[in-house]
Amino acid sequence: MVEFMGNAVMKFRVLSCVLAAALCFGGLIGCSGSSGETSLADTGSVEQSDEAAKAAEEAKRAEEEALAKAEADRKAAEEAAAKAEADRKAAEEAAAQAEAEKKAAEEEAARVEAERKAAEEAAKAEAEEKARQEAAAAEAAAEAQAQAEAQAEDTNGYTVYITETGKKYHSGGCRHVKKSKIAIDINDARAQGYEPCSVCNP
Ligand SMILES: [Zn+2]
Repeated sequence: MVEFMGNAVMKFRVLSCVLAAALCFGGLIGCSGSSGETSLADTGSVEQSDEAAKAAEEAKRAEEEALAKAEADRKAAEEAAAKAEADRKAAEEAAAQAEAEKKAAEEEAARVEAERKAAEEAAKAEAEEKARQEAAAAEAAAEAQAQAEAQAEDTNGYTVYITETGKKYHSGGCRHVKKSKIAIDINDARAQGYEPCSVCNP
């Protein structure tokens, strides 16, 4: 810095000298060796302080720029950290969402499976109920048929004859019913304990 200042001053002195010489040559101002020296020294001093001020200003500006850059770097680092944190949170949220979706899918699958089982059980119960009803219907039909057959047997009875004292029933032409002949349905006769006659075999 000192060297730079020195160089600047020297350059200025040379420049001033050339300028002073030109002015002297032009006769615009009075020019003597001593007054020229004084003038150059004064101008150099002003210029020197100007240069120092400029350099100080330059240094201040450089310092400010360095500070601003450091601040910018710090902000950039902060922003990068914030972005990394945001990215991490986004990734976490995405993972949480994926997990939630997986759970939802599992629950849906479980629900579908439960519905399938319920439908299966309902179908099974329905089939069992149907089979039970069919069995009951078959039983009722069988009973009805038996009843109809019994009724048919009743209605298919025919007339036989008993006597006042005998324990047999006879056909109408049997010799055992010549004296006493009471008409009765064969079913009634059987129900009352009468047995078929071995002679007429009614
Ligand atoms: Zn008989």
